[in-house]
Amino acid sequence: MVWLDIDNTLYPASTRIAEAMTQRIHAFFVSLGLPDDEAHKLHMHYYKEYGLALRGLTRHHDIGTHHGLEFDKACDQTLPLEQALAADPAVRKLLQDIDRSKARVWALTNAYITHASRVLDILNLRDQIEEIIYCDYSNPTFSCKPEPEFFTEAMKKAGVTDNSRCLFIDDSLPNCRAAKKLGWHHVVWFCEDGRAGAHMHAAPMENPKAAEGVDAVISSLEELRDVWSFIFTDKS
Ligand SMILES: [Mg+2]
Repeated sequence: MVWLDIDNTLYPASTRIAEAMTQRIHAFFVSLGLPDDEAHKLHMHYYKEYGLALRGLTRHHDIGTHHGLEFDKACDQTLPLEQALAADPAVRKLLQDIDRSKARVWALTNAYITHASRVLDILNLRDQIEEIIYCDYSNPTFSCKPEPEFFTEAMKKAGVTDNSRCLFIDDSLPNCRAAKKLGWHHVVWFCEDGRAGAHMHAAPMENPKAAEGVDAVISSLEELRDVWSFIFTDKS
């Protein structure tokens, strides 16, 4: 069972989508009545603490039940993805080369389904992903990566009971470590260009070589053909 993160994993961080997202989330915090500097502090704090700014908002602020979807509308849905993203035939080929008799391929994202589907459509990868496990922003108590419940719920939805059958790739080191802690079999940290975290608001810089708690660190998706060689079609 392969679990793929979507944002900054299936497309490169050089698209600067994360930065555009950061600006919109900041504006959303300000729209809730938070002063500029407090909005910034809380946004960064919540992202680091909960893996998703919205998760902190729903936990600590009485923002009402509809705000999750309003957040999605104001932040993710206004991103100029069609201009910023382009399908990469190499990534499509990579996913096509996974032997589907050996592994199912699902997405595991902290985005809402609207954003996740939109990204996969633009990247021309939607048909390569069987199902998308997304954050249900419409539920005020939704869970997200790196919370263990999110991973175990995903397994339940996929009907997988054995942690050691799960492979996972994500550009967020905390998400990778959380999966590994649960006993997922092989966890790959996608550390593009050797940068410790593709997001500008990622965890403090660490030496990528010292990425403890993961099984492999790769800087190009093509390296999956080596680290997960056992799920790729035999080309010999
Ligand atoms: Mg990501």
